[in-house]
Amino acid sequence: MQNCFGSFIHPKVILYSLLMTNTLLKLNNEIIKCKKCKRLVKFRKKIAIEKRKQYMNENYWGKPITGYGDPNAQLLMIGLAPAAHGGNRTGRVFTGDKSASFLFNCLHKAQLANQSNSDHRNDGLILYNIYLTAALKCVPPEDKPTSLELKTCFSFFKKEISLLSEINTIVALGKIAFDACLNFYKESYLIKNKDFVFSHGCKYQLPDNKTLIGSYHPSPRNVNTGRIDTKKMVNLLEEVKKIVKDKKWQ
Ligand code: SF4
Repeated sequence: MQNCFGSFIHPKVILYSLLMTNTLLKLNNEIIKCKKCKRLVKFRKKIAIEKRKQYMNENYWGKPITGYGDPNAQLLMIGLAPAAHGGNRTGRVFTGDKSASFLFNCLHKAQLANQSNSDHRNDGLILYNIYLTAALKCVPPEDKPTSLELKTCFSFFKKEISLLSEINTIVALGKIAFDACLNFYKESYLIKNKDFVFSHGCKYQLPDNKTLIGSYHPSPRNVNTGRIDTKKMVNLLEEVKKIVKDKKWQ
């Protein structure tokens, strides 16, 4: 069998991938049932009951959000947390809101996704060589998690990273996700935030040899103010693709 780069894949590698996929599924089932952060459990349920007017007839997910994509991916994309009426409504990370529409239009243009929309869990979306996740799996009030909530949820992020064994590059969507990623690494390594200054397109080597890349968050505010646009985002994604491919041979 050949992979998307046209290389031969050994049957043992396929078996290993299937086992990893199975373990990731088990982890995701564990995440969905989690109720460790009382404040967030209360908040995600409140949003799911009150709903936004335009989604009044929908059943909100109202539970933690797992990662989504290719379990054998080399690229990990990470946001901070699910959106109240996006992921918390649809049950999939970066799905069903304006940030998702912008991001997937760009991913599709960069040939990293099979379609330009991410509307609901059964929309047929496939990510190519990407696993997409959030540092915090539940929606926090005002998008502001406490440091304890982040620290508690990092146990899942840590397991995700260890199971996604092919990952060589991480793209953090927004400064808060970028800092959350650094704080996660600080738990295991002696690194200082001041050595990792966030900007769109910044690139750093992490202590475990992965590359960390910063990107503006694809939020409506960043799009409407012109801080980010389709061209800038697609250019960054094209650059990321090259970095991912080059690291494959290191
Ligand atoms: S944020 Fe993470 S640790 Fe806290 S309840 Fe949600 S899934 Fe559990």
